[in-house]
Amino acid sequence: MKVPLLDVNAQNIPLEEELTAAFSRVLRSGRFIMGPEVEEFEKEVADFVGARHGIGVSSGTDAILLALMALDIGPGDEVLCPTFTFFATAGCISRLGATPVFVDACPVCFNIDVEDAARKMTERTKAIIPVHLFGQSAEMDEIMILAKEHGCHVVEDGAQAIGARYRGIGCGSMGDFGTFSFFPSKNLGGFGDGGMVVCNDEDLAERARMLRMHGSKPKYFHREVGGNFRLDPLQAALLRVKMEHYDRYSRARQANAAYYLERLSALEGVESASPTHCCCAEAQEEALGAARIILPVCYEHNEHIWNQFTLRVRGSGERDLLRAHLTEREIGSEVYYPLTMDQQQCFAGLPASSREGNEVAHQLAGEVLSIPVYPELGREMQDYVVTAISDFLEKEPPMRE
Ligand SMILES: *Cc1c(COP(=O)(O)O)cnc(C)c1O
Repeated sequence: MKVPLLDVNAQNIPLEEELTAAFSRVLRSGRFIMGPEVEEFEKEVADFVGARHGIGVSSGTDAILLALMALDIGPGDEVLCPTFTFFATAGCISRLGATPVFVDACPVCFNIDVEDAARKMTERTKAIIPVHLFGQSAEMDEIMILAKEHGCHVVEDGAQAIGARYRGIGCGSMGDFGTFSFFPSKNLGGFGDGGMVVCNDEDLAERARMLRMHGSKPKYFHREVGGNFRLDPLQAALLRVKMEHYDRYSRARQANAAYYLERLSALEGVESASPTHCCCAEAQEEALGAARIILPVCYEHNEHIWNQFTLRVRGSGERDLLRAHLTEREIGSEVYYPLTMDQQQCFAGLPASSREGNEVAHQLAGEVLSIPVYPELGREMQDYVVTAISDFLEKEPPMRE
């Protein structure tokens, strides 16, 4: 049996008629830049996540860049971000001439370690970017308190978490800005690149809208230097079709994750991460005992949308062995992410204070393995994945010293 990590066709082909109708609508409108399709989609996304304003943009990366530009982040500023994240989070900080300061990860939820963030705050810290990694919210109450204490901004990188909730509140709606991506592998996957910025403040929304169009207002009169960060109406029209089905996709991912958790936790050598030890690596390691594979958890106060279902495979080289074992059985998997930001070559020139610490994240980078959890994954496929993992645990020797 073949089990891909993601099957975009399984989701999109059944929508072919609706998508074709949306394409025709845009074709016949003759309007290919901005306009009603983009505006409607902006409203739909903002409503969905519980924010006042939505600003459609060209990608999840440009969403972060635009949010930071609207907050005047630039040279001399420090911006805290998790070291265990996709590159875009850190890259945008750097592109604006600011200094990214990398913060360690929680071994339970993989998100930013807020205590480490507090340690790394300086008087130059201008913003913090929590990332809701793999579809689960970061600890937003603590982050908002920390930011308030230091008078710095919060940009939520929600690229993997559109529709996820923290204590009932939509991810992206809590910080100064929230950013989303419609890259095909994200939960609301588009047909190419696309993204969205959301915010609640009228003035910030206005500024972001202006910067999205070269900083011009009115047209050809440039108050400041922006860029071309627009979302295409065609992309917006197609995404509106998928938006109508989005709740169903999220529920299917949640059901798949629950099924994995039930089946995998029954295997010898597999343990669930202990949610009571959030961000305490030592207590967590102790609680896990001799477990070889650690299952992800969803905190009780969160609604997780499972962009990824990410295992920790303990023991030197074990993760790569499991991955090879799965590949042999035609099961897709991926390492998100093999290198932390502080380990990237392009950041080697940053001051040591930007890169120090981060031991938990380094360990995670060596242990994580994401397995298929996409909505259209069938139970037989999941059973096949579970059997493959079970075989691995039986056949491969236990952890070497
Ligand atoms: C995908 C992703 C981005 C970037 O989104 P693009 O649309 O690919 O530019 C940013 N941050 C995180 C955490 C992501 O997963």
